[in-house]
Amino acid sequence: MAADLKSFLAALGRGAHLAAEVVHTQQIPPRPAHYAEPNPPLAADLARALAGQGVQRLYSHQAAALELVRAGRDAVVATPTASGKSLVYTLPVLERLAADPEAKALFLFPLKALEQDQLTAINGLAQAAGLGPVAEIYDGDTPPGLRRRLRQKPPPVLISNPDMVHAAVCAFPQAWDRFLGQLRFLVIDEVHTYRGVFGSHVAQVLRRLLRLAAARGSRPCFVLSSATIANPGQHARALTGREFAPEQVVSLCGAPAAGRSFVLVNPIGAASTTASYLLAQAVKSGLATICFTKSRLHTELIHAWVTRSHPELAGLIAGYRAGFLPEERRQIEADLAAGRLAGVVTTSALEMGIDIGGLDLCILVGYPGSQINTWQRGGRVGRAGRHSAVFMVARPDALDQWLISHPAEFFARPVEAAVLDADNQPIVAQHLLCAAAEEPLSVHDEFFDLSRHQEALAQLSAAGDLLLSAEGDRYFTPFKQPQRRVDLRGAGESMAILGPQGQVVGSLDGVRAYKEGYPGAIYLHKGRSYQVQALDLEHRKVSVRPVRADYYTHARSEKETEILEETGRRPVANFLLRQGRLKVTEVVTGYERRRISGGDLLGVYPLELPPLTFETHGLWLDIEDALRKEVERAGRHFMGSIHALEHAAISMFPLFALCDRDDIGGISIPLHPQTGKAAVFIYDGVPGGVGLAEQGYAVIEELLARVEELLDTCACEAGCPACVFSPKCGSGNKPLDKQGALLLTRLLLGKQELAAAPAGPVPEVISPAAPTARSGRMRYGVLDLETQRLAEEVGGWNNTHLMRVSVAVLYDSQRDEYVPYSEKEVPALLKRLQELELVVGFNLLRFDYGVLSAYTTQDLGRLPTLDLLLEVQGVLGHRLSLDALAGATLGAAKSADGLQAVAWWRAGNLRDLAAYCRHDVELTHELFCFGQREGHLIYERKDGNRLRVPVCWAWPALRERRSHE
Ligand SMILES: [Zn+2]
Ligand SMILES: [Zn+2]
Repeated sequence: MAADLKSFLAALGRGAHLAAEVVHTQQIPPRPAHYAEPNPPLAADLARALAGQGVQRLYSHQAAALELVRAGRDAVVATPTASGKSLVYTLPVLERLAADPEAKALFLFPLKALEQDQLTAINGLAQAAGLGPVAEIYDGDTPPGLRRRLRQKPPPVLISNPDMVHAAVCAFPQAWDRFLGQLRFLVIDEVHTYRGVFGSHVAQVLRRLLRLAAARGSRPCFVLSSATIANPGQHARALTGREFAPEQVVSLCGAPAAGRSFVLVNPIGAASTTASYLLAQAVKSGLATICFTKSRLHTELIHAWVTRSHPELAGLIAGYRAGFLPEERRQIEADLAAGRLAGVVTTSALEMGIDIGGLDLCILVGYPGSQINTWQRGGRVGRAGRHSAVFMVARPDALDQWLISHPAEFFARPVEAAVLDADNQPIVAQHLLCAAAEEPLSVHDEFFDLSRHQEALAQLSAAGDLLLSAEGDRYFTPFKQPQRRVDLRGAGESMAILGPQGQVVGSLDGVRAYKEGYPGAIYLHKGRSYQVQALDLEHRKVSVRPVRADYYTHARSEKETEILEETGRRPVANFLLRQGRLKVTEVVTGYERRRISGGDLLGVYPLELPPLTFETHGLWLDIEDALRKEVERAGRHFMGSIHALEHAAISMFPLFALCDRDDIGGISIPLHPQTGKAAVFIYDGVPGGVGLAEQGYAVIEELLARVEELLDTCACEAGCPACVFSPKCGSGNKPLDKQGALLLTRLLLGKQELAAAPAGPVPEVISPAAPTARSGRMRYGVLDLETQRLAEEVGGWNNTHLMRVSVAVLYDSQRDEYVPYSEKEVPALLKRLQELELVVGFNLLRFDYGVLSAYTTQDLGRLPTLDLLLEVQGVLGHRLSLDALAGATLGAAKSADGLQAVAWWRAGNLRDLAAYCRHDVELTHELFCFGQREGHLIYERKDGNRLRVPVCWAWPALRERRSHE
């Protein structure tokens, strides 16, 4: 152990203040190195270049990956932080480039800072190996001129990120023909970060990329790297769509690691106070220290506290988080790497492998939410074989407290699985549109298994967003750039934070702006306070001015939930557990001001903001009146009980699913209008859901058992932050009844008997009303008419009522006949129309009924009508002529036009006129029958492609529609 760290730990042990707070110290033993020689050995130039960087031998995992990739096999390497992962993908690629200078590789990183780091590393090694600089970055910061050059003459290694692949590569496949055709490697770093909604999106982007490459004759090899996760092979498969056999998953790490002390601290005061103390002492002792917080606010607060109480450290410690300007972040990274900064307070933003130099000490303020993140953050420390230390400072949060009082379980807990749902229908739907816009999508597509996406396809087709070719083999989309409407990170568009002179201070993503950027909110940035003056949702900007404030702000909100669809239910002991699609509406009603030191409530201020609405997946517990009465009989507060139960369940949720409590939302309601009883809802906090509630649905018994244990063992009397208080409660943690929640949990689980209720008579069963709609054919007619005058003669198409009927023809399904009507017979026609169950025609509502309206006071628009023109327009968004539709669908054409019809009328040629009119009715009738039979019509697009227009005209569907009109 280095002398300074040793003396630091010893000094802390002596300091009575902290010693009382240390509850456990775990020694993590050092890990020995395992080397391996690849067979055949590395090319001499490359081996020499590596030796020049001090790498004499390869670690076993590096050699294993190299051999796999040489054999053309995909590989995923899941090893801890700082295990030399970049060589895992750099070596095979450089080796290939030496042999095949035309080969191309795409390297994807989840963060821009990582791109910069790797650019330097790869080019350094390539130059030393005599290959010259091989890599260039293509991302949002690349200037347009350079972008063009990179597209026309792509470098051997293109460094980018998934967002750019989505918006700039896949969206313009022709511009990348050469690159895609020569793409040999797809390198993806930090694949464990591609989980949840973002992971589901990236999985679809990769399928689109592979598809475009395949169309150009290439099948790139995947080289993936990950932090240690439970399921690297399965995750790699979900992400890429390719199979990974066990030997393609390299998870034995050959890199050595020095020993580490892992110290669990349960502070007497606030966790942030203890963390600030540790940070200041460590930096003063000359230890390079990183302090991870759970929120941007706490990053700012701890930075402010340390530098205010120790002004001499101000230049040595920085805050770091998303929302800083990119140049601010690059500067901090460089200062850390160069040792100009001795400490940094950061959110998860510095968790990944950005090179910030060697560190001695890591402070985790609160449990990072998962084992993956805990070990990854803790893995940032330790350099050159020197002992290091990790402090986890528990917060007064139920989960933190549970873990810190179960250290054996904490250190034995396995790392979690990374979860992404590659079949998430709303996400797949967005990418099917992108894929179809990039190249028409075959129904037998190799990369998108359409048989798994029937639901998404049906919805897209019905909306006209995806249209099948006339042959039924390929899908097209009418959209030019559907990529622009897809938000991969699901964060909403970001908003700029502008200072009084209009200068950019920082940024907030969409949802965050709504909850943190309201007028009056305090925005903390690099230790300075700004007050929000205005939130401009339309122009996406937040105006702030600097203020001196000793408080921070926290939004208060009200939430409602509507059940859109129930997708599952199961009985559990004394309740019914249900899950389904929910619509959640949240309104920020005001905000609290709390003192920066101590967090005391200073006041509550009302706000008026528009509601925020999203759809998601959730589970809910139906709580029967009998349980409610039992809780009330015991003298407990029922609303307080369900509310406390909701909070406790959400706080324990991360034990069962890979998430943070902030990823989960909850609502408790004593009487839900849809269920007619009390309910506790727990739902995925992101639109569309990421499968968290589904996991909760599967393990509700275990989750409630943990809740019971928590409520039972917490030493507090009436609830505290370690059990039922929630830091993000929208109603200020009121009302909460901890004892009531404990009773309710036991009642729900059947661990406490329900008082016997008088059973009474068996209630009568009310049978549902018999369906009224009959099935089978409807009595229908198909109508068309010709006019005596042209539109231009009566002042335009607004005056169709002045055009007068020359002849009308009605196909009558009851008579199975085409019946002509002269102008004199129009009353008979109108009478017959009233008797039909459905009138079918083409442009009936705007034209034929307009002409007929001159003969009746009835509102013809109320007739049960199926207007084929409107049906097609509803799908395509534009009009089509009967001629075009009949031509493409039936191969038939109209025999004349309206002009000719008026001419025949004037010449007294009623025979040709009636025949022409009848012909149009026949065409319309055939289109209707075709649509009924096939479920679509066909039209020809301007580019010559013949596409299907989906229609839903089966008799039951038409009857259903009529009953709604
Ligand atoms: Zn408590
Ligand atoms: Zn609450």
